[in-house]
Amino acid sequence: MARPKGVGFVWMRSAILAGATAFAALVAWPLAGPAWALGVLAAGLALLLLRHLANLAALVRWLDHPSPSTVPEGSGVWDYVFSTLYRETRKAREQQHRLTAVLVRFRAAARAMPDGVVILNEENQIEWANPIAEQQFAIDLEKDGGQPISNLVRNPEFVAFLARGEWGEPLTLRLARGEELVLSIRVVPYGQDEKLLLVRDVTRWEKLETMRRDFVANVSHELKTPLTVLSGFLETLADGTVPAGSPQGRRALALMRDQSERMLRLIEDLLTLSTLESTSGPASEGPVEVGPLVGALGEEARALSGGRHDIQVRVESPAIVVGNEAELRSAFGNLVSNAVRYTPEGGRVTLVWWRRGAEGVFTVEDTGIGIEAEHIPRLTERFYRVDRSRSRETGGTGLGLAIVKHVLTRHQATLEIESEPGRGSRFSVVFPARRVRFRPSAAAA
Ligand code: ADP
Repeated sequence: MARPKGVGFVWMRSAILAGATAFAALVAWPLAGPAWALGVLAAGLALLLLRHLANLAALVRWLDHPSPSTVPEGSGVWDYVFSTLYRETRKAREQQHRLTAVLVRFRAAARAMPDGVVILNEENQIEWANPIAEQQFAIDLEKDGGQPISNLVRNPEFVAFLARGEWGEPLTLRLARGEELVLSIRVVPYGQDEKLLLVRDVTRWEKLETMRRDFVANVSHELKTPLTVLSGFLETLADGTVPAGSPQGRRALALMRDQSERMLRLIEDLLTLSTLESTSGPASEGPVEVGPLVGALGEEARALSGGRHDIQVRVESPAIVVGNEAELRSAFGNLVSNAVRYTPEGGRVTLVWWRRGAEGVFTVEDTGIGIEAEHIPRLTERFYRVDRSRSRETGGTGLGLAIVKHVLTRHQATLEIESEPGRGSRFSVVFPARRVRFRPSAAAA
């Protein structure tokens, strides 16, 4: 194709051709007379017109299906017109290809995003949404595309937020759809009143945040009570109202010691929990002989009971558990101490290690106060207590079973709780087969 030459070229080419025709007519005049000259002029101009019409027809035909590959070959100035058309349509086609590729890439990226993305037009109708957003809002792009989003997400807070027209801060939206879903929604306006909704699922984060707030509140509350007692007694002792050596003073000091021991126990339990939480598995694992461990726990129970309970210890199937001895001892110890603490004087506490199929089970059974069924699922939550004052009276921190649960999770073991109010409780730690090696000979013996 020829290179473009501009409007000047078109005029010049046309002038030269018209001039050449006129010149031929002038030459014909003296040779063949005016009639022939006129004939030559008319024929020349007709030829020129025909060529223009043929090219125009080619252009009109091409316009029906314009494509760079079918641009016709032109003659004369039309060659210039067609070559320009060819170049421009090719440029437009390339640009279109590039834009399509960008759009495809953008959609693929938005599709792969871990957050929801919804494109809304100026009427807040859904133009496009990625699969995550379809899930979050329970919409189906194929069916719901083109619908106003407020028809599908009818939450009044959300509708008001969209209408607000000022979206500096994200909206935190709670949707109760089976399980609670908490979404953080950002609106990014763009183009002409179009909007991009960016939707992040913050349910887990919100739960953690609530747990963190509750935990800080609980710890503060747990520390506040003993500290209030301590500072009250310190004040009376300091201003001399009660002399430290007097019987009243000695009683105050004993109470102060109790309270500081309680705080110490709480801090110790908190540190244990924090160590358990900061590492994913037991610090160091090894074979733990269950027989001696359960025997030692029986002795601890007797010391704790001070002769007020009947303590029974049975190792039915001697075995080795693979785990961390200190952690297991602390978990089992918590169950044993709970059994003693929640069993009135004269009751019985039984510690049994036994075999259930391929699993190894450590059970602590008591004839104590028992637990109402509704509390059982929540017992391993930090600071969850059925009877707050009884727990405190007996030196509980409310963290014992939370520690037990953590230790057991690290050992892939589970906690089973059965209880009947007024009759007693059974706490069983169940170790999977791969954590236990039974001793057939010792069992037989
Ligand atoms: P605490 O330090 O209060 O004992 P735990 O986490 O060890 O905390 O136990 C949580 C709650 O579970 C206790 O406050 C108590 O209400 C209940 N509980 C635990 N073990 C027993 C048991 N053997 N008998 C009755 N209630 C129990």
